[in-house]
Amino acid sequence: MNRYSIFSLVRNALNYHQDWQPAWRSPQPRKEYDVVIVGGGGHGLATAYYLAKECGISNVAVLEKNWLGGGNTGRNTTIVRSNYLWDESANVYEHAMKLWESLSRELNYNVMFSQRGLLHLAHNVHDMQEIGRRGNAIHLNGIDSEFLNPAQVAKMVPFINLNCRYPVMGALLQRRGGTARHDAVAWGYARAADNLGVDIIQNCEVTGFKIVNNKVTGVETNRGFIGAKKVGCVVAGHCSVLAEMAGFRLPVESYPLQALVSEPIKPVLDCVVMSGSVHAYISQSDKGELVIGAGSDTYNSYSSRGGFDCIEHTVGPVIELYPIFSRLKMLRQWGGIVDVTVDRSPLISKTPVENLLFNCGWGTGGFKATPGSGHIFAHSLARTEMHPLAEPFSINRFNHGGLIDEGAAAAVAH
Ligand SMILES: Cc1cc2nc3c(=O)[nH]c(=O)nc-3n(C[C@H](O)[C@H](O)[C@H](O)COP(=O)(O)OP(=O)(O)OC[C@H]3O[C@@H](n4cnc5c(N)ncnc54)[C@H](O)[C@@H]3O)c2cc1C
Repeated sequence: MNRYSIFSLVRNALNYHQDWQPAWRSPQPRKEYDVVIVGGGGHGLATAYYLAKECGISNVAVLEKNWLGGGNTGRNTTIVRSNYLWDESANVYEHAMKLWESLSRELNYNVMFSQRGLLHLAHNVHDMQEIGRRGNAIHLNGIDSEFLNPAQVAKMVPFINLNCRYPVMGALLQRRGGTARHDAVAWGYARAADNLGVDIIQNCEVTGFKIVNNKVTGVETNRGFIGAKKVGCVVAGHCSVLAEMAGFRLPVESYPLQALVSEPIKPVLDCVVMSGSVHAYISQSDKGELVIGAGSDTYNSYSSRGGFDCIEHTVGPVIELYPIFSRLKMLRQWGGIVDVTVDRSPLISKTPVENLLFNCGWGTGGFKATPGSGHIFAHSLARTEMHPLAEPFSINRFNHGGLIDEGAAAAVAH
């Protein structure tokens, strides 16, 4: 692998950038692998990387039906934070946060992780109670969070309209929260995994599983059968489809979730502002575009477009809260298919089929977990025993009622 550095940049500039190597190979699938990962999003690629790097298993393939990072990884609003309510979630998201903090160095790839600070606005008494309870729980887990009064919010976001239809009564701030470049996360993990011997196979759709004596032995794909000792499914919004192929059901529903970006403007917003009760999340990208996250559609669907009413419901409060943005033109809008559980927490779990594990249900908030999720899933796959941080997120919690309700911290109240 060519190491990326200022020197390689200069050397390649002198050669008119003709000599860069492709960041990863495009191999033909082998007959069999020790582990097949289905889904080439951030979580799947991170899993493959940590399998090869930390578990000594590099006979691994990542099968992606489209292009790498073209699913929710490349469609999200890139918010990273670890301020969740329950210990189980705090452990996972903080594990991820710690990995984020050194990820660019680890992968030799700039994932543009920017800890610019993240505000959760409170607009009513209920919101104030929620951030109060959650902020204290976060403190008890040793994670940073601060309460701000309206004047302190206005100091961070000087143009916010504190007394609009959605009055700002306070906020919860996580200074270590922020954003990262989503494509770079997929590309960085892909390049590093490929370098360790992982085969990344794009345009390879899994269409079925071969299961013998209740044990998975491989996957059927549009490029033929590929044998596997173990299979890890990390397909986000399509997890129910894959589960059905394997003969069981998951407690997950799929919805379109939308986002939009404005035309680029000069730097105006240097933190992330989230507002769960009005479904509006806003940050400014390095290109200058305002990145706006909306709520999810109210109906199940596999359409990656979403309904226009959702955009209207998002843009309305954005204009109320930030009147200076009212004349901005929106450049692009898109949707992704998110996999939502009833308690808004993920499923990282064994399944009724031996050696077939699923990592899904991250819903509207899995980008922030990418490194942590990949790390613990890799260790779970390697040992076929769940990593202690993954243990509480088993499918079985829906049988015994041990739900991890992150409805409020997930901040999307669908
Ligand atoms: C609009 C939007 C905004 C969001 N904002 C945020 C945010 O700000 N912060 C945050 O933390 N999270 C956010 N999320 C959620 C986050 O994007 C996801 O939870 C996360 O990216 C999931 O990553 P993944 O790798 O599991 O899934 P994906 O990136 O979706 O990867 C799954 C891959 O599986 C592939 N696949 C599916 N079926 C098959 C098959 N049969 N065979 C082979 N491959 C298959 C798909 O093509 C896809 O590439 C947002 C999501 C959306 C849609």
